[in-house]
Amino acid sequence: MKITIIGTGYVGLVTGTCFAEMGNKVYCVDNDLEKIANLKENIIPIYEPNLETLVKSNQNKGDLIFTTNLKDALDNSNIIFIAVGTPASDDGSVNLDYVYNVALEIAENITNDSLIVIKSTVPVGTAFKVKEIIESNLDEDIKIDIASNPEFLKEGVAINDCMHPDRVIIGAENEMVFDTLKELYSSFIVNNDRFILMDVRSAEMSKYVANALLATKISFMNEIANICEKTGANVKNVRLGIGSDKRIGYDFIYAGCGYGGSCFPKDVKGLINTAMDNGYVPKILSYVDEVNENQKLVLVNKIIDRFGEDLSGLTFSIWGLSFKPQTDDVRCAPSLKIASEIIKRGGKIKAYDPKAIDNFKLNFDLDNITYKKSKYDVLDDSDALILITEWKEFRALDLDELSKRLNQKIIFDGRNIYSPKIRELGFELYQIGC
Ligand code: NAD
Repeated sequence: MKITIIGTGYVGLVTGTCFAEMGNKVYCVDNDLEKIANLKENIIPIYEPNLETLVKSNQNKGDLIFTTNLKDALDNSNIIFIAVGTPASDDGSVNLDYVYNVALEIAENITNDSLIVIKSTVPVGTAFKVKEIIESNLDEDIKIDIASNPEFLKEGVAINDCMHPDRVIIGAENEMVFDTLKELYSSFIVNNDRFILMDVRSAEMSKYVANALLATKISFMNEIANICEKTGANVKNVRLGIGSDKRIGYDFIYAGCGYGGSCFPKDVKGLINTAMDNGYVPKILSYVDEVNENQKLVLVNKIIDRFGEDLSGLTFSIWGLSFKPQTDDVRCAPSLKIASEIIKRGGKIKAYDPKAIDNFKLNFDLDNITYKKSKYDVLDDSDALILITEWKEFRALDLDELSKRLNQKIIFDGRNIYSPKIRELGFELYQIGC
């Protein structure tokens, strides 16, 4: 099949590469000239395991074409995916400017009957609005079909998720569209049928509900962790106790210092906004967001309890800046809030992350923060270690090295990954809910 993907970010680049890997011809379009120039040289703009190898091989085969020329891409394809960003606006509503601009650009450049597929996460009704914008701005008699095909890949394991999806949701208005997209995705799900076909609005809604439910599980468990702390229970034991119930399960019930990323925070806010716009006041969702924002401060409060409000003269080492392991994405990462609060109180930060330092520097202009190239260098002359993102390399602690380098043997563990036994070796260990 011949496909155009508009927006070559985390979703567009991964999806486009995987479509090409399955033998389709894919045009990845972006209006970021530097990004496309780099991709043509196989310089990958994001960190995502296994992505670079697949981009290289498919570009070499000629199945993956990076371009800024939308017209050229549209002339050569008839399935067009929209995968541009849908960030939150300041008021929490979904900023659909990028999506609607693309709709206009499609109308200006399209020459063939085409299927437009919305892969970006968009509020209910957006796909029909995109169709309306395109149709009302077309000069020629061109037939447009519209579909919603929300993306469920997880950063850090995006290639695997894309190559082996749990499910493929297709929201469409007619059988021909279902058949076309089923054909496209059939190479990814050869062993059993994991298509879920539905109307366009429900497909759009499904994506928000999936993210909102996962965010709810996290916030719920963080609230339980805070209650555990007050009562002397241990949230890690509680997780085991409840996760063994199949109806609950073990996933997404880890207590920690809050969720971040490009999806959960904005999608929870987006769903709240959709509800309000439609005259419904969602109570659970509003608290999910509020609990999460407070949770990002839990480690800061523990630091204040230990060192006092005034942190001047103290240095803190941060392990992990990305919002989760295996990605360089720092959007809405708890690390930003934690670092900013410490700096606001006069403390200094030294930070290390295996992949996200450049992105963090680029996105957040903080004073009093220095970056180090290794997880141990960052500890020198520091008064405490703060673990924020549980990258694998942080799991096994070299306690001798920590003892030698840290001024004080203090660890704030924002993901509950360390054994309380290190307390027996003279370390002060602060965790969440235990
Ligand atoms: P991103 O910010 O990484 O990428 C968006 C890309 O679109 C950028 O490269 C930008 O330059 C490009 N773009 C913007 N306007 C354009 C235009 N007019 N023409 C061509 N290119 C244009 O975003 P992302 O993380 O890939 O997310 C894309 C969408 O997918 C969002 O709606 C997001 O919510 C959703 N989503 C993201 C993830 C994820 O893990 N990142 C997972 C599932 C769904």
